[in-house]
Amino acid sequence: MKHPSRRIVLKHSGMVAVVASFGTSLPVLPARADELVSKDSVSYQTTPNNGSQCSQCKSFIAGATAGADGTCKVVAGPISPTGYCLAFSPV
Ligand code: SF4
Repeated sequence: MKHPSRRIVLKHSGMVAVVASFGTSLPVLPARADELVSKDSVSYQTTPNNGSQCSQCKSFIAGATAGADGTCKVVAGPISPTGYCLAFSPV
């Protein structure tokens, strides 16, 4: 069975432009609401972990104010800016 090349797979998935503009460092893309993972599955906590917290994560979407809960591109539900989870990705 012949497997499609990486180029063909990327072209058909609409990722060519994204890969070309970001090289090997792919951005964290917003997931659809029904694709978000649960807090439990990534061991979400409402406190920082060794100084790392959601407000410093690429996936964090800030709330109305600096201290307000925001949302996350990966994890479902309200997210504290001082929270943390295993999917942490520093800005
Ligand atoms: S640390 Fe986890 S919950 Fe917080 S913004 Fe990043 S991915 Fe989302």
